[in-house]
Amino acid sequence: MTAQIIDGKQVAADMRAELKDEVAKLKEQGVVPGLGVVLVGEDPASQSYVRAKERACEDIGIYSDDNRLQADISQEDLMALVEKMNNDPKINGILVQLPLPKGLNEAEVLLAIDPAKDVDGFHPMNVGKMVVGEKAFRPCTPHGVIQLLLRSGVTLEGAEVVIVGRSNIVGKPLANMLSQKNATGNATVTVCHTRTKDLAAHTKRADIVIAAAGRPNTVTADMVKEGVVVIDVGVNRVEDATKKRGYRLVGDVDFEAVKEKASFITPVPGGVGPMTITMLLYNTVESAKRAAGLLE
Ligand code: NAP
Repeated sequence: MTAQIIDGKQVAADMRAELKDEVAKLKEQGVVPGLGVVLVGEDPASQSYVRAKERACEDIGIYSDDNRLQADISQEDLMALVEKMNNDPKINGILVQLPLPKGLNEAEVLLAIDPAKDVDGFHPMNVGKMVVGEKAFRPCTPHGVIQLLLRSGVTLEGAEVVIVGRSNIVGKPLANMLSQKNATGNATVTVCHTRTKDLAAHTKRADIVIAAAGRPNTVTADMVKEGVVVIDVGVNRVEDATKKRGYRLVGDVDFEAVKEKASFITPVPGGVGPMTITMLLYNTVESAKRAAGLLE
């Protein structure tokens, strides 16, 4: 079997087109979704993520309030900016790009964001609501993974899902969302990590394998069954002298070999990556609708 490639760029483009239409309709009702973006310091990866987020906002008509701050900003000044955005009715979502430079207390900043504007879904209030199955912002990467599965027609109900990775931003929230008693859940979920005794024993029986380990070749062809659905969240740089920049990006899955056994598989790049920003836009639009009383 050769897998159908799940084209994350296309799914993201489809969702962004839907959001663009929705934003245009909201504007007719006088509602303009707004995202407040905070970037502290000069980290090149963070700068490029933030630029991509701002471009995406512009593209679909979301107002974006960009705040570029020096790395030596004080904790008090950063907290004051968050507070200002909490109180600004033009801002429906607040995004503080992580990691913050050393010396700043990340947890304190994230806790200060109004949970009603926490479009990253990292505030403990939203995490707690998600866990007990209440409405809450869903973290962007896990939510993007679920959208990729659903929009590819993959059945989640009753599926054996094995997640490799238990981070707070990917593995744990995914496990939680997929095991909720609802239409985007109802799967039977196993979470694996570095202390898992026999990773292959778990992945071999999975209908769906989701790799979020941050290590190339964590999932190889001998570790999966025929017809498995594979979602590769990992983004890793491996040296490649044939590339101008000296490296190429790969996921956590041995893509070439696994695609010969899988029914569906995501590539890296072009799989989960484009979905993360899309779900941030989705959460910002939801937040604007809720603030305008158009959503429960
Ligand atoms: P993380 O915080 O480093 O967590 C990695 C997890 O994988 C940990 O739970 C670790 O186990 C587990 N792990 C590592 N090696 C393993 C192995 N050989 N066998 C089993 N488990 C293993 O990483 P993260 O933030 O979740 O990110 C994971 C990957 O996804 C990274 O490559 C990251 O760049 C990528 N990512 C992509 C997007 C996107 O938008 N495409 C978004 C977020 C993250 P322990 O807990 O035991 O250490």
